[in-house]
Amino acid sequence: MIQAPRGTFDILPESAARRKVVEEQTEKILGAAGYRRIETPTFEATELFSRGVGQATDIVQKEMYTFDDGGGRSQTLRPEITAPICRAYLEHGMHKLAQPVKLWYLSSCFRAEAPQRGRYRQFWQVGAEAIGSDAPETDAELIVLLADLLDALGVKGTRLRLSSLGTPQTRAEYREELTAFLRAHEDELTDTVRSRIDLNPLRAFDSDDRRTQAVMRDAPLLTDRLNDEDAGHFAQVRALLDDAGLVYELDPTLVRGLDYYTRTVWEFTSDELGAQSGVGGGGRYDGLIELLDGPPTPGVGWAAGVERMLLAATDMVPPAELVDLFVATAKPDGRRTAFELARDARRAGLQAQLELAGRSLKGQLKHADRIRARFVAIVENGHVALKDMASGEQRELNAREVIPAIVRGDRSL
Ligand code: AMP
Repeated sequence: MIQAPRGTFDILPESAARRKVVEEQTEKILGAAGYRRIETPTFEATELFSRGVGQATDIVQKEMYTFDDGGGRSQTLRPEITAPICRAYLEHGMHKLAQPVKLWYLSSCFRAEAPQRGRYRQFWQVGAEAIGSDAPETDAELIVLLADLLDALGVKGTRLRLSSLGTPQTRAEYREELTAFLRAHEDELTDTVRSRIDLNPLRAFDSDDRRTQAVMRDAPLLTDRLNDEDAGHFAQVRALLDDAGLVYELDPTLVRGLDYYTRTVWEFTSDELGAQSGVGGGGRYDGLIELLDGPPTPGVGWAAGVERMLLAATDMVPPAELVDLFVATAKPDGRRTAFELARDARRAGLQAQLELAGRSLKGQLKHADRIRARFVAIVENGHVALKDMASGEQRELNAREVIPAIVRGDRSL
C-alpha cells in the first residue's frame, strides 16, 4: 500500500476543523490590526532563500527541497515565507503604498528535517509581517498580536524569550569578538561548534554539549555591545511590552535559525511540546529587502507553526458542525422529490444532506441521529413527514412547506 511520504501527513476532516479555528482566529486578530492576507507560490527561485535566509543556516545548507524546473532553473519548495513576502513586496512595488505594509499568511512550508513529534517535512505556518516601519511600536504590536493569537487558541504553557541582535555593523564587530573568544577556547568545544566558528559563531550558544555550555557562560554577549540607537529601540520595545502586561524573559543568547534578523528577536515556547518546544517566533529584518536588491527598507514579522500550536492547545474543541436537515426517502418513488428538496434547502441557506447509501428507513433515521441533524424530512408519495429530532415530534407537510418550516425553526411541530 502506498503511504504518505515520511514526515508528511494527511489533514483529515477532524483536524481540518481545528485548523479552521486557527485560520479564523488569525484573520480576526490580525485583521483587527489592519493586516491583510497574502499567498505566495509554493516554490521560488532557490537564490531567494540562499540569499534571503542565509547561506550559513541549517535551512539552506541541508533542509531545502531543491529541483531543476526542466528549464535549467533551480527552484526550491519554500522553507519559510518571509523572504517570499519581501520578494513580492518588491515585485509589486508595495513600497509605493502607505507604509508599513502589513500582511499575514497561512501556508505550507517544506524542510527536509528528521521527522518527530512537532517536526515535519511539510508543515504549516501562520505568520505576519510589517514592512516599511522601524518604529518600536511595530515590533511590540507584532509580539502582542502573536501572544493574543496563542491565547485565543488556548496554547498552553507559553513562555516568551526576547532579545536584540543590533545592526549588521554591531553584529560584525561582535562576531569578531566572539570568534576570537571561541578560538581561544577551541579545544573545549564540540566538533560541530568548532567547525562552525567562522560560518556562524552565534550558534555556539545553541549547543547542548555541557563543556561548550560551560565555555559559553563566560562568552561576551551581543546585548552588551548594542549601539545607543539599538539599545534605545530595544528599551522602547520592552517598555511597550511592559505596559501591555506581557511577561517575557530577556535572553541575550537567543539565536534564531535564520540569518536575516536585526534588532528585536523573540520566541514563544510551550512547555506542552517536549523537544520541539518552539511555537512561534520572529524578529526585525531591516537588511533583508536590501539583500534582495531593494532599497533600504525596515521590516519585522513572525511565524508560528500551526501543528505545534494545535499540539499545545489540548483543550481546543472546534464548534460542532450543524446539519439542519437530513432528507430520507421511505419509498424509491420519493427519490427525485428528496433530491430536489435537499437542493432547495441548501439554496435557502440550510445545511442539508441527502440519503446516499441506500439504507433502510430505520437506518436512515439512525444515521440522521448520528450526524445530529435538527430535522429529518421523510419523503413519501407526494408528501413529507418532517420530524424535529430534538422533540421527536412529527408533522405531515407538502414538500414546499418543509423549508419555510425549518427556517422558522418551527417549534409548533
Ligand atoms: P522558523 O521559521 O524556523 O522560525 O519557524 C517558525 C515556527 O514554525 C516554529 O516556531 C515552529 O512552530 C514551526 N516549525 C518550524 N519548523 C517546523 C517543522 N519542521 N515542523 C513543524 N513546525 C515547524
